Amino acid sequence: MTREEHAAREIPFRDKMIETAPRAVIEWMQLEGLKKQIAHALKTPFYSARYAAAGVTGPDFIKTLADIRKLPFTTKNDLRDAYPFGLLAVPKDQVVRVHASSGTTGTPTVIYLTQRDLDLASDTMARSLMAAGGTKDDIVQNMMTYGLFTGGLGFHYGAELMGAMVIPTSSGNTLRQLKFMKDFGTTMIHATPSYLLHLHQAIADEGYRREDLKLRMAITGAEPHSEELRCKIEDKLGIEVYNCYGMSEMNGPGLAFECVFRSGMHVWEDRYIAEILDPETFEPVPDGETGELVLTILCRDAMPLIRYRTRDLTHFITGPCACGRTHRRLARFTGRTDDMLIVNGVNVFPSQIEEVLLKAKGVGANYFIIVEKHGDLDKLTVQVEITPEMFADDARVINALRDRLKSEMSALITINPVIEIKQPGSLPVAEGKAKRVDDRRPKD
Ligand code: ADP
Ligand code: ZN
Repeated sequence: MTREEHAAREIPFRDKMIETAPRAVIEWMQLEGLKKQIAHALKTPFYSARYAAAGVTGPDFIKTLADIRKLPFTTKNDLRDAYPFGLLAVPKDQVVRVHASSGTTGTPTVIYLTQRDLDLASDTMARSLMAAGGTKDDIVQNMMTYGLFTGGLGFHYGAELMGAMVIPTSSGNTLRQLKFMKDFGTTMIHATPSYLLHLHQAIADEGYRREDLKLRMAITGAEPHSEELRCKIEDKLGIEVYNCYGMSEMNGPGLAFECVFRSGMHVWEDRYIAEILDPETFEPVPDGETGELVLTILCRDAMPLIRYRTRDLTHFITGPCACGRTHRRLARFTGRTDDMLIVNGVNVFPSQIEEVLLKAKGVGANYFIIVEKHGDLDKLTVQVEITPEMFADDARVINALRDRLKSEMSALITINPVIEIKQPGSLPVAEGKAKRVDDRRPKD
């Protein structure tokens, strides 16, 4: 099917009405949605305190959509402070699922969902997949990790709702991935950009021929990647690659998604309010200029989140999209305003690594984190200085420390770091603010 045919394809009437609604209708939905969310948020301990301090007494505080700028922000730290139930707006027995962001500095940032919330999240994901030309005839292999973060289950439920046959292989085990792709005739895969490259290499190494596979498209996301990288994957695998943006705090993947024209990700504005702000002045940047994306989810019962600072940097793409959808488009993300690293799709804060190190006996004052490309995947190395006493100890004791640090870190950040033990005083001591991370990955 050509892009034009895909775009003209019959999508359910209700969805089409919403996806191509006049801006005035979308903005009316946003205003009404925002007021409702404010009323709802006031039922949570977190927002009732925050809004009382800011003089936000109820939904009437908002008269026009622009009034959203009078509301205080919500941050990742707020989520941690509200852990575990400070942001719960419904009785606990209505919660049916808990998710957490893959990056957690000590206290996790969790979200809770009612059945209705889950249904809506799946609907958003299904809508996204259909905008990208997915159909119920697709055979979808989901290579994102299943578990607390939403790239696995969130995507899975959306693909099922679309009616596709879903194979939940989860991440890793490339040989099995390839076998399933061949045996089941997988047409669509969901994986991080780096894993897609790795997969391409494995296809060649394992002696598969392209014609053994029915693959036609890949959905990718979870980490920033360039247009050049997308083109490279498309060329190598001979498929179309669609960019998908999401985060667990906002119900997971699919909150913004590329349509078949692949020129920016439509953010579903009947369900989210997207603002792009100057991260220093917090004023909206002019359309087309880069700033921090701030999101409000408009329909969530269990856990309202209003003006959530994503820390992700992007800009709005102006002008109409050839598909006819009226929801604005976000450009490819260029990075983040904080020090979060994304390693093979998993969020890692240097402070998580520090936390493990600080607790361990025998670890010295200094450490250093190196992220590199190892083949197509990312490799995380933690260099750790040990104390003079530990250094004088038996090699077995030092090895045991290395093993313990490795297993504690992989339990916390879900990826396996390489631990290099260093002699006391051997790592450079920073003057001023310590530089703890060297990200050596090519900025493609
Ligand atoms: P999930 O639960 O889906 O794994 P997380 O909440 O762990 O998601 O991570 C969300 C973060 O991942 C985002 O804030 C953003 O930094 C990054 N991210 C997700 N999708 C993309 C994308 N398509 N492009 C760039 N970065 C992305
Ligand atoms: Zn479009």
